[in-house]
Amino acid sequence: MSFTAGVIAVQGDVSEHADAIERAGAAHDERIEVREIRSDGVVPDCDLLLLPGGESTTISRLIHGEGIASEIETHVSDGKPVLATCAGLIVAAADAGDDRVDTLGLIDATVERNAFGRQRDSFEAELPVAGLDAPFPAVFIRAPAIRETGADVELLAEWNGRPVGIRDGPVVGTAFHPELTADPRLHRLAFFEPPNLTQ
Ligand code: GLN
Repeated sequence: MSFTAGVIAVQGDVSEHADAIERAGAAHDERIEVREIRSDGVVPDCDLLLLPGGESTTISRLIHGEGIASEIETHVSDGKPVLATCAGLIVAAADAGDDRVDTLGLIDATVERNAFGRQRDSFEAELPVAGLDAPFPAVFIRAPAIRETGADVELLAEWNGRPVGIRDGPVVGTAFHPELTADPRLHRLAFFEPPNLTQ
């Protein structure tokens, strides 16, 4: 099989996600074609989407301005998977607690921006993740906190008793940056095991 992966590329760490999804696909013997999305009309061709970190206010403004936001919403209502990381999680949430972020409501959660400290407070943690047999090297950069989640939201990972990885149906959200390490397991978890795109 081959899959088309769309990386929302209006702003943020795009090439890292492109590399990570290619590695995750290779681990499953899947050929992945990566499309970088900067305007409307591409999302409908994608089997899976990556919503990177960056600055959530900017990402939100650009995806709405370019007509990409409603296409992402349709992708998820069609049951297709998304991995949303850091600022991507903020944009994907139901409520970001900040009027400058027009959230997509893909994940039934309330988040709080920059809740783990400022840029200089970035840190890395070996994180147990549900579904992975060994801890994941998680990089946190001005990460959001997940304050509240709806009844259907699954907890994937916690750091110091605080949720930092969640799944709502086809959408996985992480407060950390799984694309910034060479470890493809989080991308595999979000897209291949489950949901299995080949089924
Ligand atoms: N602090 C950023 C925001 O609120 C997110 C940081 C990140 O994606 N690394 O948008």
